[in-house]
Amino acid sequence: MYSELPDFIEIRQSEETGRVIWTQSPIRAGSAIFVTKPYAAASSSSKLTSYCSYCFEQTGMNGLRRCTKCRVTHYCDFNCQTNDWAIHKHECASLQNWSKAAPSSDYPPPSDAIRCLSRMLWKMRKQGPYARQTREIASMQSHRSSLKPSAYESHTYLAHSLVQYLGLSSPGDMEQYSLSSAADLVDTISRFVTNTFTVTDPTLIPLGAAVSPVVALINHSCDPNAVVVFPRVSTDPKVQEPLMQVIAIRDIYPGEEVLTSYIDATLPTNLRQQALNETYNFECNCHLCTSTGLDPRASLNCPKNCGGSCPLPSDEHALVRCSKCKSVVRSVDAALDALRVGQEGLDKANNLQFEDPGKSIRLTTNLIPILTSAGFPPSAHPLLGLTRLHQQLLTSSFPNPLTQEHLDETIHTATTNVAGLTALFREGHPVLALALAELGKLLAVDEPSPRTTNKSVIYPPSGLPRLKLAYETLLRARKMLLIGFGVTNEGGQVGKEVREMIVALEKEIGVFRQGVKNVLEDTPKLKA
Ligand SMILES: [Zn+2]
Ligand SMILES: [Zn+2]
Ligand SMILES: [Zn+2]
Ligand SMILES: [Zn+2]
Repeated sequence: MYSELPDFIEIRQSEETGRVIWTQSPIRAGSAIFVTKPYAAASSSSKLTSYCSYCFEQTGMNGLRRCTKCRVTHYCDFNCQTNDWAIHKHECASLQNWSKAAPSSDYPPPSDAIRCLSRMLWKMRKQGPYARQTREIASMQSHRSSLKPSAYESHTYLAHSLVQYLGLSSPGDMEQYSLSSAADLVDTISRFVTNTFTVTDPTLIPLGAAVSPVVALINHSCDPNAVVVFPRVSTDPKVQEPLMQVIAIRDIYPGEEVLTSYIDATLPTNLRQQALNETYNFECNCHLCTSTGLDPRASLNCPKNCGGSCPLPSDEHALVRCSKCKSVVRSVDAALDALRVGQEGLDKANNLQFEDPGKSIRLTTNLIPILTSAGFPPSAHPLLGLTRLHQQLLTSSFPNPLTQEHLDETIHTATTNVAGLTALFREGHPVLALALAELGKLLAVDEPSPRTTNKSVIYPPSGLPRLKLAYETLLRARKMLLIGFGVTNEGGQVGKEVREMIVALEKEIGVFRQGVKNVLEDTPKLKA
């Protein structure tokens, strides 16, 4: 089993955490520990028309070929469609039945979870119960015996949709999928839910759901030494992708366990624990979760601005002091109010970001100053989330023609975002690497109306200093991308893009300098 794993990776059994994977050899930061294609994957409903259902390539508005039978899946070309057919032929029939039974013509296809789970079941049926991969799927961990009522409800909902989608009308129909009872079905769903991954594009945008029993062997830490990414650098992406790569983001030593993070590690401890508990049914004991030290995710700036920070007060711990100068935070209620308003606003703005981006950006625009003036540093929740969303919204609403004001506000926001993420992630984490690349790219955008007086106090600078800053930022970004998306992948698609930008900027800065030199030489010298 698990033939994708290299020889130096060992699977051991641990009493507390079940199976764990260890390395017997040192692994350098930026190296791919292993690479594998998901056992099954399905794109999310919103991506069905713009991404290939087989290889997950984005093909823009015109290039996609639609399955004429179900009219749901889209492909890059005939090859991707043919490659997908072995599984899609079952899916195609199910999708057609689903739409026939739909209450209206615009009724959406089932969620990516249902479609991915079904693809998994069809593949298992095809390969048979003794195939290596079927046995790997069957040995993935399930938590059915200790399911929480909330999880039980969502699993029951999934079970209902699945029964309908697969067209199972009697218990006998379930046998073909090696399911002998309703309990078996819930068990399979539970195993799927706790072991599912998000397929992402090379910029970490979520594209759908995937299952991979070998990647599922890796345990969780909120401060992981490895990440799962999809850098999309195959020589023939239309055949090989989507490939999951497990990349070391720091040096890992012999005898160390390989760990990735299952959740958004920018969240403070209580929210991380909640997310892990709800979806994965365990309590994390990593050093971040057990530390009693100051967490930049839940802290305030010193009330006297000495440069130190204070833990975020709570109803139980209302008296908090600066870690450096020991000043007491007086405005506890204001901070707690800002936290509550900010959290509610972030949830709302996130939900509205595609439906009503105008309303979403009004929320982020109003909330960011409230949290900042309540003393939240850029790394604190929910300010970091608001800043990241604000940046996305600003970038996707660039006016035409672009104004200096809009561009500079976007750069400001991107800078705050990088500052926040720098406090949370180690060098080379893909999230931080991408944020830096984004900032560098923004700084390199042609200025619509550069300032002529270049006071050094103004940020972002204009003209040559701005180009230089763009150049330095992209250099740093590239160094981190090479780690986060793998050295041999050249930092993935974004890493390659950034390298090209660096070369172009080198030229531009050279020309700029030459231009300035020419102007100086052309200026008639003043007579002494
Ligand atoms: Zn394709
Ligand atoms: Zn079809
Ligand atoms: Zn943790
Ligand atoms: Zn202080």
